[in-house]
Amino acid sequence: MRSRAVVGNWKLNGSLAANEVLLKALLREIPRDSPVACAVCVPSPYLAQAQGLLRGSGIGWGSQDVSRFDKGAYTGDVSGTMVAEFGAGYAIVGHSERRAIFGETDAVVAEKYAAARRAKLTPIFCVGETLEEREGGRTEAVLARQVDALLGSCGVAELDGGMVAYEPVWAIGTGRTATSAQAQEAHAFIRGRIGAQAKEVAARLPILYGGSVKGSNAAQLFAMPDVDGGLVGGASLVAEEFVAIWRAAGATG
Ligand code: PEP
Repeated sequence: MRSRAVVGNWKLNGSLAANEVLLKALLREIPRDSPVACAVCVPSPYLAQAQGLLRGSGIGWGSQDVSRFDKGAYTGDVSGTMVAEFGAGYAIVGHSERRAIFGETDAVVAEKYAAARRAKLTPIFCVGETLEEREGGRTEAVLARQVDALLGSCGVAELDGGMVAYEPVWAIGTGRTATSAQAQEAHAFIRGRIGAQAKEVAARLPILYGGSVKGSNAAQLFAMPDVDGGLVGGASLVAEEFVAIWRAAGATG
């Protein structure tokens, strides 16, 4: 059985006051022990706040990015070790917004994945095609390129202990969700690509779906055999929505 997870990506949102309200609302609903992991990836300045409020709870926390470097003259970067010092368990790497807006290449994303692993974080490695790529029939080629870059740089064994998030770019923040069939097809392709190198690693690997997941569409998506939970942007800022999504992944709390 693969582990399942629902992870919130707050993006560039939050304030000390708003975070406290949101996290306390989540704490009321999410129990310590659950078969479905729950976590929030917060802007790095709020890691200390997340640690203070969530320590000992059933909710994990993480960052939305890490530097590919461990230390040195890299102004503005935050290392995996720094993130881990605040008790974080997760780091998103290669989110499409980082790839598209900040120019992160497949090679840089692979270095960030490795840096997160060195810091003993669980990297959530994001892949996904643009609308133009999907409409041009290039979805599988894009996913293959993104996955192969990670496999080539880090080696398949490094995928053990990580997670993948399939996030079609056209579904992120657009209100347009992939159909469960589209999600299943992409997830199965990703798992197959990894499985061609190490069957057992692929079988154990949680692959989350991200892209306009809501309480109303989560159950259908999560019912697919290769969809092991979700990476949730906008809806993770609304406690009731996020809890509903987490419950739809099979959580009993
Ligand atoms: C995301 O940012 O990873 C995401 C999936 O966003 P949204 O849920 O808002 O589409």
